Amino acid sequence: MCLMDRINQAKCATGMHAGDWRWMAEGACGQTRTCTRCGNVGTRDNHNVTKWAFAGDPGNPRLMERHCERCLSGETKTFDPIRGSGRRSPPRRGRASSRGNGGTMPSF
Ligand SMILES: [Zn+2]
Ligand SMILES: [Zn+2]
Repeated sequence: MCLMDRINQAKCATGMHAGDWRWMAEGACGQTRTCTRCGNVGTRDNHNVTKWAFAGDPGNPRLMERHCERCLSGETKTFDPIRGSGRRSPPRRGRASSRGNGGTMPSF
């Protein structure tokens, strides 16, 4: 047995199977994959969910919704003006820049 076979077997053993995911049905988000190495059949849901957006409901102007563009299953929530006012902390930066600049110790 060659080395690549052993590596591939190890991958399958840890769930890293080979093969392409295929849609099980039109308009549904279930996918299935048959491993080209060991024949393992796996399934998953692969939703393509939109961002939260106001639903435009005149009776509830705070109503927000998002849905899956493929299977159209969705959920709603009520916009919270306190938590939704943009006071989130900005994305962290600079972690990567402390690496690889010529032998300086990383500062923690
Ligand atoms: Zn496999
Ligand atoms: Zn879906």
